[in-house]
Amino acid sequence: MNSSLNAARRSRELAEAGDLLVDVLVVGLGATGAGAALDAASRGLSVAAIDAHDLAFGTSRWSSKMIHGGLRYLAKGQVKVAHESAVERGLLLRHTAPHLVRAQPYLLPLTPAVSGGQAATVMTGYRLGDGLRMAARTPRRLLPGPARISAGRALSLAAPLSPNGLRGALLSWDGRLVDDARLVVALARTAASRGARILTRCRALELAGDGARVRDELTGSTFAIRARTVVNATGVWAAQLDPDIRMRPSRGTHLVLRPETLPGLRAGLHVPIPGESNRFALVLPQSDGRVYVGLTDEPVEGPVPDVPQAPEEDVAFLLDVLNSVLGVPLGRQDVAGTYAGLRPLLAAGGRTADLSREHALLTSRSGVVTVVGGKLTTYRRMAEDAVDRVVALGRLGAGGSRTARLPLVGAGAVQEAGAVPDRLRARYGSEAGAVRALMAEDPALAEPLPTGITRAELVWAVRHEGALDVDDLLDRRTRIGLVPEDRAAALPAARAALAY
Ligand SMILES: Cc1cc2nc3c(=O)[nH]c(=O)nc-3n(C[C@H](O)[C@H](O)[C@H](O)COP(=O)(O)OP(=O)(O)OC[C@H]3O[C@@H](n4cnc5c(N)ncnc54)[C@H](O)[C@@H]3O)c2cc1C
Repeated sequence: MNSSLNAARRSRELAEAGDLLVDVLVVGLGATGAGAALDAASRGLSVAAIDAHDLAFGTSRWSSKMIHGGLRYLAKGQVKVAHESAVERGLLLRHTAPHLVRAQPYLLPLTPAVSGGQAATVMTGYRLGDGLRMAARTPRRLLPGPARISAGRALSLAAPLSPNGLRGALLSWDGRLVDDARLVVALARTAASRGARILTRCRALELAGDGARVRDELTGSTFAIRARTVVNATGVWAAQLDPDIRMRPSRGTHLVLRPETLPGLRAGLHVPIPGESNRFALVLPQSDGRVYVGLTDEPVEGPVPDVPQAPEEDVAFLLDVLNSVLGVPLGRQDVAGTYAGLRPLLAAGGRTADLSREHALLTSRSGVVTVVGGKLTTYRRMAEDAVDRVVALGRLGAGGSRTARLPLVGAGAVQEAGAVPDRLRARYGSEAGAVRALMAEDPALAEPLPTGITRAELVWAVRHEGALDVDDLLDRRTRIGLVPEDRAAALPAARAALAY
């Protein structure tokens, strides 16, 4: 079946939805829900998957985009979570999404604030992390091992570092997504290619073990989707559909810097947070040249907003930590954009930063299975566990998960002949040639927008990636919208793509 998602397919499948009895209804199309839809569809089950807004509307687009090997969990003694992360990272790098996940080098600059003892402890951690890589059978050619490097080499990889008192740096490697929202789109499209009905702008109003009452957010009409089993994958909103669940979200803020703000930054940075022995801020160079700086961890009370906002105190905190290692400090005017996400943590005692990132499966009295917690890196495992649970609960008679070796849309070699720009390859994988072909048909579509995105990519997103409006195009299929001025500049092109 075709993997393309678009308005016509949505209308067609929505019209049929009220008459269906599906094996699995998945609610929420972040990484977890899209992963569950793919897991179930690839076992041969009939699937409907809905989201109140869009693919990757929630936390899955606000992450640091790291596919991490679980080092920080190892540091807390959570060996099982750490190993699970390393295994999932290896699967993404080698089998399922090699086009979307890269190895990213990070430097921990050895400034006067980092003692020799602290550096030795961190290096021991990196070596243990490398051991996790080996245990997960991820080859070193995909993820090189850690090393201590000289100050000169550190400055050649990260020119904005202050040379004053720099003794060198600790170099380590981890996985990084080209874009977290693109992972979700690839999961949803791969699920669609296996027959899953992917319906955005469909809000679950009420859930039961045998289906949901749903509102089409575009028309306001309500209808029922009948299902043998139901998976609640609504992340930080999970408690709104299951009153037995208690969430204790924590906010993570990132700064967005323009490409020219930190020239010569070729590696990410781990910057120790003053006064904390084992917490680091992250400086994350992106393939479009922008740099993200994160990340805070602050408990949040009260109603869960659709789009969390980054408060000024988070911005000031991150700038202070970043400036502790830069030669030329940055000011508030250098921050071109900000974003914040809420970690979907289950309520438990203690600080949110100390809560386990392990995921949880909870079955409600009516039989709805909620899958929550975890992280982007482990979405596949969470999805597998959730589908195993509903298969057993609903006696669905399906086999085990097949997703560990199932390539997502775009994995594989570029099919079309001729030169395809690296930028397109990194975002579209094997479909890059088809995106380029749009530009060959109409050269006006080759015109670049902020961050180098072309008009052709917006048209592609409307035809194949389920983008229904300008927000989908600018805030999720591309990340132009992370910088408000760039968003305003690209708005006419997004409108034109929808009418193309
Ligand atoms: C700041 C930050 C940084 C992070 N960085 C990383 C990282 O670098 N690496 C990593 O592995 N993990 C990271 N994480 C964790 C990771 O991002 C999350 O664990 C993951 O994205 C959660 O995905 P999800 O699909 O469970 O939830 P979400 O992505 O939030 O998806 C839930 C979906 O449910 C939909 N929904 C809600 N209510 C309804 C309803 N009633 N009906 C229909 N749909 C509904 C929403 O619209 C949303 O799309 C980070 C988290 C944060 C907050």
